[in-house]
Amino acid sequence: MPIATINPATGETVEQFAPYDSAEIERRISEAADAAATLRTTTFGQRAAWMNAAADSIEADRDHLARSLTLEMGKPIGQARSEVDKCAHAMRFYAREAEVFLAGELLDDPGSVGATTAWTIWQPLGVVLAVMPWNLPLWQVMRFAAPALMASNAGLLKHASNVPRAALYLDTLFERGGFPTGSFRALLVGSSAIPAVIADERVKAVTLTGSEPAGRSVASTAGQQIKKTVLELGGSDPFIVMPSADLDAASTVAVRARVQNNGQSCIAAKRFVVHTDVYDEFVGLFVEKMNKLVVGDPMDEATDVGPLATEAGRHDIAALVDDAVDKGAEVLAGGRALPGPGWFYPPTVLSGLTADMRIVSEEAFGPVAAVYRVADREEAVRVANQTSFGLSSAVWSGDAEEQDWFVHAIDAGAVFLNGMSASHAELPFGGVKHSGYGRELASSGIRAFCNLKAVWRA
Ligand code: NAP
Repeated sequence: MPIATINPATGETVEQFAPYDSAEIERRISEAADAAATLRTTTFGQRAAWMNAAADSIEADRDHLARSLTLEMGKPIGQARSEVDKCAHAMRFYAREAEVFLAGELLDDPGSVGATTAWTIWQPLGVVLAVMPWNLPLWQVMRFAAPALMASNAGLLKHASNVPRAALYLDTLFERGGFPTGSFRALLVGSSAIPAVIADERVKAVTLTGSEPAGRSVASTAGQQIKKTVLELGGSDPFIVMPSADLDAASTVAVRARVQNNGQSCIAAKRFVVHTDVYDEFVGLFVEKMNKLVVGDPMDEATDVGPLATEAGRHDIAALVDDAVDKGAEVLAGGRALPGPGWFYPPTVLSGLTADMRIVSEEAFGPVAAVYRVADREEAVRVANQTSFGLSSAVWSGDAEEQDWFVHAIDAGAVFLNGMSASHAELPFGGVKHSGYGRELASSGIRAFCNLKAVWRA
């Protein structure tokens, strides 16, 4: 893949970058290693001041940064501004909370281990490599970078090849806040350069957000080197609607949950599992609202759904829909790529799905919803769990006992009740099954790349 900014609304190449050569990669790893050594000598207070200053910077850059995100990957401009805001919030959150999250513990009864005192401390691992996707080009990186830097780790970023401008923005952001030179460095390289970076002894761990094949590849390489990984991979989240749900609210949120970020979100609701008693009414409302969405220029404030980020992405989603239709699925909305320049695909709803259709088991990374009719809550959970993914989920029900039952029965990293899945700095985020392992955000996110050291004193 070329490293290039290509406007998905027009297909036009705006800027192309040569990948870094081995000397430049070496220079950047070396800077990051030096920065990690310096960061260990700094205090939480210093790092918090730098992180807050970097948050001020990103807020000051909000408008042009949002336009740059929209130009590079096509998300509606309002959602790009929200992404910037979300980053600033997480930066301030970790600036404030890091010291509490990384406070060690004193053992209440040291005599039980034959000590006079015993306690724990959290220490940074050093340089951590982050391999990141294009769909939320700032936020995916920030949810790793803010806690990592507050823990005194340094970061190396291998960003997706279609968002080099976002990568270069992040390359300087933390230094502008005051962090030591090299604390966070982008590597403009293709994925073939990554095994050597992982093998470098100065790189201590790897986090990857992306597809299952990329996760397998990076985790295998890191496993060979006995280096820790966190994997945030794909999802095919269920959105369950039970008879006691508020159907008007549920259908409005269902639309947003499916088409946010032009349908390209790991935690987008992708499979709508609806109780038979309310199926016709819910699906009627859902289809009506999907049909009302404005598809068009993502720079236009009135646009709800912009283009897919890449030509290959649009090809993949169209192939998934065609496969289902060829095998008998019914198209309730959309269903065909839109003509003209740019990689537009309309909001689409499919029903009548059968196990032989690829969309039943694969992730639909575009604005395409699959709806399923179920007889009861047991069948709803069977459908929800019949996927290799387990990232997040949503359940709409007005019955507290039923909500609790679903919370325990669904195989996923999160359950959102009467709402839509979202990541929050304050809550742990991550999946089970092929959606990956490890957790980002909250206290678990900052501890992920730390050494929990036990100390025993005679
Ligand atoms: P992708 O193709 O896996 O790319 C993600 C990153 O991995 C890019 O930087 C890519 O670089 C790199 N990469 C790909 N193959 C690699 C390999 N063999 N070795 C090293 N690096 C490799 O995924 P994507 O298409 O950008 O993103 C969409 C996927 O990400 C979806 O499955 C989505 O669900 C998932 N995702 C998950 C989460 C989560 O938190 N769980 C969040 C967002 C997205 P190049 O661009 O150079 O190929």
